[in-house]
Amino acid sequence: TTTPDALGVSGLTAGYGRFDVIHDISLRVARGEAVALLGPNGAGKTTILRAIMGMLRHKHGTIRIDANDISGLPAHKIARGHVALVPEGRRLFLNQTVEDNLRLGGLHLRGDRAATERLLSSVFELFPVVERYRTRPATALSGGEQQMVAIGRMMMSDPKLMLLDEPSLGLAPLAIQDMARALITLRERGQSILLVEQRVDLALQVCDRVYVVNGGRIVRESAASEIDAAGRELIDAYLG
Ligand code: ATP
Repeated sequence: TTTPDALGVSGLTAGYGRFDVIHDISLRVARGEAVALLGPNGAGKTTILRAIMGMLRHKHGTIRIDANDISGLPAHKIARGHVALVPEGRRLFLNQTVEDNLRLGGLHLRGDRAATERLLSSVFELFPVVERYRTRPATALSGGEQQMVAIGRMMMSDPKLMLLDEPSLGLAPLAIQDMARALITLRERGQSILLVEQRVDLALQVCDRVYVVNGGRIVRESAASEIDAAGRELIDAYLG
């Protein structure tokens, strides 16, 4: 028997109100695979993530998580079925401590201390800086450190699939490298990842496969290893 994909999207059309933004999207993330969605501004990448999370109207198509059809389920049920979204802009509770922000990601554990501590220590192991600042208010951290807290909060839900929307946005170059290393480690731990990125270099460093999105459609799919310098230039040109 073959292992079911962490994510299987087939023929997905969705949008806002009566207006379709993504059309006939089919993509997959195998279990333990990291996959990137690349594309210019407005291509529909965020909309794909939001449709998978059940956050907007879903018109056609099916979405499977680990062989379970979640199409049309409300967002809170999809989250409980272990899909976690790290949204663009992080959305931390800035006046709360780092640790309280992390614990908020583990609310579904309903006070299971052992499980909570196990997940907290796996976050701290991946992000030592997050542990060092655990008692500080999130607002005292740099953008890169806050992004690590946002990812850590999602790790607290022990997701089957992690969706990340432009984690490098607004970060300094060194922080972007730290972010890339953290994502590579997450993937090495077996986390299935779907990553939206504007930075082709980061996506290729972290991911096994990429899809290029434009005009709400998938226009290209490729293994990261198949993209040579020329292909990279082509994608860069595509992204403007
Ligand atoms: P970016 O990198 O700029 O976030 P993106 O590829 O993630 O780009 P989306 O945010 O998915 O693109 O936007 C795709 C299209 O959907 C855009 O034309 C945008 O104007 C439209 N759109 C996004 N959010 C809404 C909304 N809440 N209501 C109506 N239209 C929206």
